[in-house]
Amino acid sequence: MPPLLPGTATLGVLGGGQLGRMFVHAAQAMGYRCIVLDPDAISPAGAVAEKHIQADYLDHLGLAQLARDCDAITTEFENVPALALETLAGMRVVAPAAAAVAVCQDRAVEKAHFESAGVPCAPHAVITNDIELAAVDPALLPGILKTSRMGYDGKGQVRVKTAAELAQAWNDLKRVPCVLEQMLPLKAELSVLVARGADGQVVTYPVQQNLHRGGILAVTEVPAPDVPAEVATLAIASARQVAQALAYVGVLCIEFFWLDDGRLVVNEMAPRPHNSGHWTMNGASVSQFELQVRALAGLPLPEPRQHSATVMLNLLGDLWFTAEGGPTPPAWDRLLALPGTHLHLYGKAEARHGRKMGHLNITADTPEAAHAVALQAAALLG
Ligand code: ADP
Ligand code: MG
Repeated sequence: MPPLLPGTATLGVLGGGQLGRMFVHAAQAMGYRCIVLDPDAISPAGAVAEKHIQADYLDHLGLAQLARDCDAITTEFENVPALALETLAGMRVVAPAAAAVAVCQDRAVEKAHFESAGVPCAPHAVITNDIELAAVDPALLPGILKTSRMGYDGKGQVRVKTAAELAQAWNDLKRVPCVLEQMLPLKAELSVLVARGADGQVVTYPVQQNLHRGGILAVTEVPAPDVPAEVATLAIASARQVAQALAYVGVLCIEFFWLDDGRLVVNEMAPRPHNSGHWTMNGASVSQFELQVRALAGLPLPEPRQHSATVMLNLLGDLWFTAEGGPTPPAWDRLLALPGTHLHLYGKAEARHGRKMGHLNITADTPEAAHAVALQAAALLG
C-alpha cells in the first residue's frame, strides 16, 4: 500500500472524545482532513474535525458514509463494537485491526494474549458460571473482581477479601463474565507506548510512571522517577513483544504493575493513544497522536526522543468544584504563569466529578525542576 499523503487524504475516527480531538489536531497540523463518527451531537473531536457524522457505531449508513469519504480509519475508543471496524475494513484501511481491538476489549482474552506472548500478568481466574466461581483458588484472595468487558477508570471493579464477598460481588455485577485478579502489592504503576507500522517497524517511548486516584489516572511522570534501568528495559521489551504478537498497527499502550518484590507484570492494554502518553505532546520530539496519524497513513515512524523532563497532571471536573461551590474553572492565568506549563483543554462544556476536562503538561530541564513546578501547580489547583 502506498502511503496516504498529507494534503490530499482524509482520515476518519470512530469516537468523538478527547483522544479523537487530539488525533484530529495532529492530523490537521500535517494537512489531513478529518471526519469523526460519534453518536453525540456535540463532542470534543466532532467540534474540531472538518466533518462530524452523527450516527451510532453500528449504523450502516453512517459507516458507509465514513468509508466513502475517508481513505483510512482509526478508533479513539476501545469499546467501539468490533463489528464496526470489521465492516469498515472491508472497504478501507483500518488501523488498529478489529481483531486486535477485540483482544483489548475483553480482559480474559487480553490476559490469554499476554500469556501467549510470554509476558506475565497478575494471577487470575475467569468467572463466567457458578462452577468456575466455586472453583476459584483461595490463593487469589484478597483480590479484585473486574468485569471482562466495558470497564474503564476503575468502573466495573469490586475489591473482595473472602469467597463470600466474591460471590456477593459477582451477583452485584449481574453475573456478567468477570476476571478475579489477585490483589498485588504495587511499588508503582508504569506504562509503555509502542507505535508499530504496517511494515512491522516498531518505535517506543520511555517508560511512564503513573499515579492513580480513585481508579483514575492523576499524574504521569517521565522519566519514571523510581524505575531502575533494568526494569525500564524489561517493560519496553515486553511491550514490544505484546505489540508484535498482535501484529498491531498504530499506537498501543501497555500498562504494568511493578511489584514490591521487584517483579514486573502486565496489567492491561489500550489499542489507541493513552492518557499516560499525553506528556509526549510537549516533552517529546513527536507526540503519540502524530505517531498514530503516521501509522494509519503508512508514513515512516520516527524514533521518539524525549527532550524535556515532563509531569502530566490530569484536570478532572472535580477541580471546577470548590468549598464555595461551582462549577468555576480553575485560575488558568495563575497556573500558566508557572514556568514550563502547557494547558490542554478538551472543549467539554460541562464540568462533572471524575470527568476528564483536560491536562497540564509541565516541562523542565530536569525531573526535579518539573516535579517542583508540578507541586506548585497542584497547590494552585487546590
Ligand atoms: P481500568 O480499566 O479501570 O483502568 P485497571 O485494571 O487498570 O482497570 O485497574 C484500575 C486500577 O486499580 C489500577 O490502575 C490499579 O491502581 C488498581 N488495580 C487493578 N488491579 C489490581 C491488582 N491486581 N492489584 C492491585 N491493584 C490493582
Ligand atoms: Mg487501567
